[in-house]
Amino acid sequence: MRLELKKFFVSTAIDYPSGLPHAGHLYEKICADVIARWHRLKGEKVHFSTGLDCHGQKIAENAKRAGLDPPKFVASMEPHYRQLCTNYNISFNDFIKTTEERHRKVVYQIFKKINEKGDIYKGEYQGLYCVDCETYYTPHEIEKGNNCPVHHKPLQTLKEESYFFRMSKYQTKLIESLKKTDLLWPVERRNEILARLEQPLRDLSVSRRSLKWGIPFPLDKKHVFFVWMDALVNYLTTIDYPNQKFKEFWPSDAHVIGRDIVWHHTVIWWSLLLSAEIELPRVISHGFINTDVGDKMSKSAGEVIDPKKLAEQFGADSLRYFLLREIPFGQDGVFSLTTLQSRVNNELANELGNLLNRTIALTEKKLGGKVSKQKTSSDLEKQLELDKISQLMDDFSFHLALREIFGFVSACNKYVNDQKPWEQSEQKATIILYNLVDALRVIAILLEPFIPNTSEKINAQIGVKKGLLKEAKLGLLEKTTVKKGPILFSKIDEKELAKEK
Ligand SMILES: [Zn+2]
Repeated sequence: MRLELKKFFVSTAIDYPSGLPHAGHLYEKICADVIARWHRLKGEKVHFSTGLDCHGQKIAENAKRAGLDPPKFVASMEPHYRQLCTNYNISFNDFIKTTEERHRKVVYQIFKKINEKGDIYKGEYQGLYCVDCETYYTPHEIEKGNNCPVHHKPLQTLKEESYFFRMSKYQTKLIESLKKTDLLWPVERRNEILARLEQPLRDLSVSRRSLKWGIPFPLDKKHVFFVWMDALVNYLTTIDYPNQKFKEFWPSDAHVIGRDIVWHHTVIWWSLLLSAEIELPRVISHGFINTDVGDKMSKSAGEVIDPKKLAEQFGADSLRYFLLREIPFGQDGVFSLTTLQSRVNNELANELGNLLNRTIALTEKKLGGKVSKQKTSSDLEKQLELDKISQLMDDFSFHLALREIFGFVSACNKYVNDQKPWEQSEQKATIILYNLVDALRVIAILLEPFIPNTSEKINAQIGVKKGLLKEAKLGLLEKTTVKKGPILFSKIDEKELAKEK
């Protein structure tokens, strides 16, 4: 029997590059990256995709405003989104753009299946439309004064000839899927969608006649595909539907998306897949990062935080740590520089940085930098709750997993204080310092999904290679030579912070 590696497919939503990337884009990529890195750490075969959603009315409008044609406009935006991934160590396997030929092919294949099912018909559409959402809203969804419920701006009345997808046909199946499976996380989102599905589901307009910038509609040359119909299919394109990679990786284990597009990823996407007879993927929704003004940080709402500047000023790992530790994944959270400062100074610099520094300094001083296998400290072993950390990670409770890991870091610092290796004989110091270096090895493994740069720096200083999760237990270190390197984190002082305010 051949042992198959377990697979894991995680994706972000593809970003809509109508403007420069901001912290909302960053947050989603970091969350998906932690999931991808965690599953690689477990030894699984991972596919992690991100990319750009290039079509649609708003891109066309912004391109026009910039004096560019849409392809040139998108091309001018792409480097910024790629740079964001580079700056923050986003370990994607595929960066997909919906303008690629491979994508157009898959859109046509999926559409063909849906059309052959008898689920496409021609009609006329009239409704209240938000350009920013690229969505029609029903009267009970809109805000007072005919406003968009997301953007709080007046909706336009649009009337056009359009092709429709019989989404209403799948209402019962959608409700069943939501009730009987755990394909939508967290449960609050499931309840919201189920509540909306108590109203009769309308068919979906899947083509636009008024728009030129999109994938040409195969049944009618005067139309292009509705942008969502095209964008959602990217999750199949990235794993080469319908070929080998698709068979290996589908259904997706985690479409990581913002809570504003859960409807699109469950009701619309799932009903398209039901029609095409493709298995349903799991959808994982994160919250919004709020700022003082209380608006979500999205592509359309007001933008205040520039992730590029933050990476330069505070370092990618500080930001990654702060966002993952501070905001419970799945819920909304608040971005504040004061909290960032306190977490970096207390947890990263004081606790983690200090543990590494004093362990290396003492090992160099007392043992010439060399440690070899000794008896494992049962005190330390008791403080390392690996099963709990694994469970929290699999449950997407990243902030609690980090709390556990840093609980262990604190336990190690307490161990140094209690054992006082600087006062001990060489024999005793040998045991204590072996345990500390070994503990740092385990800490570097557990922190890799969260702060990969830092994990690498710790490994370099304690002279070990990058480890896997199965090696994250005490007592596996045979021998090593440590070498002092640069400090892991500088404290953020008030002056530094003032520059940002
Ligand atoms: Zn809107």
